[in-house]
Amino acid sequence: MSRFVGHGRGEVTPIDELTPVDEHLREILALLPEPDPIELRLPDALGLVLADPVTSSVSVPAFPNSGMDGYAVLAGDVEAATVDAPVGLRVVGEILAGSASLPEVRAGTAVRIMTGAPVPPGADAVVPVETTSEDGSNGVRIHRPVHVGQHVRRPGEDLQPGQPLVAAGRRLSPADLALLAAAGVTRVNCVPPPRVVILVSGDELVPADHEPGPGQIRDVNGPMLSAMVRAAGGVPFFAGIVRDDRKALTYTFDTNLGHADLFLCSGGASAGTADLLPDVIGRLGQCRAVKVAMKPGMPQIRGRIADTPVIGLPGNPVSSFVSFETFVRPAIRHLQGRRDVQRPSVIARAGEPLTAPPAKRGYLRVTLARDEQGWIATPTGHQGSHVISSIAAADGLAVVPEDVTEIAPGEQVRVHLLVE
Ligand code: AMP
Ligand code: MG
Repeated sequence: MSRFVGHGRGEVTPIDELTPVDEHLREILALLPEPDPIELRLPDALGLVLADPVTSSVSVPAFPNSGMDGYAVLAGDVEAATVDAPVGLRVVGEILAGSASLPEVRAGTAVRIMTGAPVPPGADAVVPVETTSEDGSNGVRIHRPVHVGQHVRRPGEDLQPGQPLVAAGRRLSPADLALLAAAGVTRVNCVPPPRVVILVSGDELVPADHEPGPGQIRDVNGPMLSAMVRAAGGVPFFAGIVRDDRKALTYTFDTNLGHADLFLCSGGASAGTADLLPDVIGRLGQCRAVKVAMKPGMPQIRGRIADTPVIGLPGNPVSSFVSFETFVRPAIRHLQGRRDVQRPSVIARAGEPLTAPPAKRGYLRVTLARDEQGWIATPTGHQGSHVISSIAAADGLAVVPEDVTEIAPGEQVRVHLLVE
């Protein structure tokens, strides 16, 4: 194999100057600070990662209560009840859910009771209303026996004091919030969503709602990266389109430093004369501009300004998209306290040849279809790094490893899923 690989700009890079994908990711994750939890009320904690484990301090249910609408009775009184020979009991009261005053049940009596209402003293079972009939004058006929404890919800049956409720590191679901509320836990320590300041650079860019002038193009990465940050669980803050100008770039970093947990930059990362970001970031803090062994997406930046990590992606929207998936999404999830930072993947069969340059990891945008033998991955048309329609149509990114240049139709390929 040649010792040199092209990177699409008429230059060649010696293979040993390429940074492996996994190394660049590892170095980015190493730049990230440990999560700093905050206390939030339950409704605000949905989807966030719990920082500390929570245990129950109470029993749920707290008191014995009825599992049915019916009659609280002594099971011994209705042992002999049958459909044809019911047992008659005198009804001495009624208890609704929330009732505090509870009539006592003695031999020969019953109390009308609703689901969730406290089971009164004396009673040891509940007869569902469906197996009773009224006998007109303050009486009820019981047509089926019940055993002791039947249709009574026992205290602590659901939760007991000291019982773990939610483990640290878990992403809170609606059901977790329900469990916490049941135990009276209304505030939790969790990791706030990281605030990602997005800085899009390029003299040729105009906002998507502007008509481009000669040589100008619409900014795709601003809207795309903002959406990707949000989908990854971060809070995007779009700092705007910034000119390829040292002062403008420096000013944008300076004025946004106070509210950034992560700077995400697009464009200006490689070796062109307008590629100023490595120099600007380097002067404000520290910066490494690397050529990563991947296609698309070779020029990448990682660095830090004060304590804020900086990730810079190439400007081509497809390169930006693939590098976001590869480096930024894991970083945002890491900042959220999540350890499952990678997308789920499936093994598929190539539906068409999947090619990549030597010594680089290829990421091909593919659609997935299923037949009896499993998934089939087919490229979404033109794979050029400027072809935005190739990402919009993709279900996943098929990975062609560094030591492979072609995966033939029918051979296996790993596909990172972009869809849930
Ligand atoms: P750069 O990484 O700045 O050298 O940009 C590489 C290519 O991507 C150039 O053709 C740019 O015009 C294009 N590009 C850069 N930023 C954007 C953007 N935000 N939206 C769409 N295209 C872009
Ligand atoms: Mg540029």
